[in-house]
Amino acid sequence: MVNAVYPGTFDPITNGHIDMVVRATKMFEKVIVAVADSTGKQPLFHFQERVELARQVLSDLPGVEVVGFNTLLVDFAKKHHARVILRGLRAVSDYEYEFQLAGMNRNLDPDIETIFLTSDEHYAFLSSSLVKEVARLGGDVTKFLPQQVIAEIKRKLG
Ligand code: ADP
Repeated sequence: MVNAVYPGTFDPITNGHIDMVVRATKMFEKVIVAVADSTGKQPLFHFQERVELARQVLSDLPGVEVVGFNTLLVDFAKKHHARVILRGLRAVSDYEYEFQLAGMNRNLDPDIETIFLTSDEHYAFLSSSLVKEVARLGGDVTKFLPQQVIAEIKRKLG
């Protein structure tokens, strides 16, 4: 029985993230969605807003927990008894950074493995940053975001 941590900025959580979580629940006993503080990235949504949105959107899924964190990821994983870090791969462009991150985390704690899921073909082009850009410019984002997030992004962007 293995727990997995799925870390990210989730600024905001998209249908691509949700698809990953749903698929992960079929493989892991518990999936801990770990929302990173990521203040350095100057996110659109505040830390607590990102945590709350993810919680609302994932509340129906058994075996899923949403937790905010601002510590070293491997320490967070250990604290939550997770032996796996789960990350998503969309395109080849994701690979280089993810490879570095996985290598660093394995160096920091060899007992924790990073596992990748490739994105669903419907979401391979979808990222939080692109969706924010489309929303900012008045484009239709209904296919990419859950209902609660659409309402919040509209409110944020006026
Ligand atoms: P980070 O700032 O850590 O990259 P993100 O919230 O952008 O945080 O992404 C968190 C994780 O979810 C990453 O592993 C990313 O590759 C993955 N991810 C993001 N969008 C998608 C998607 N559309 N399909 C599959 N995985 C995705």
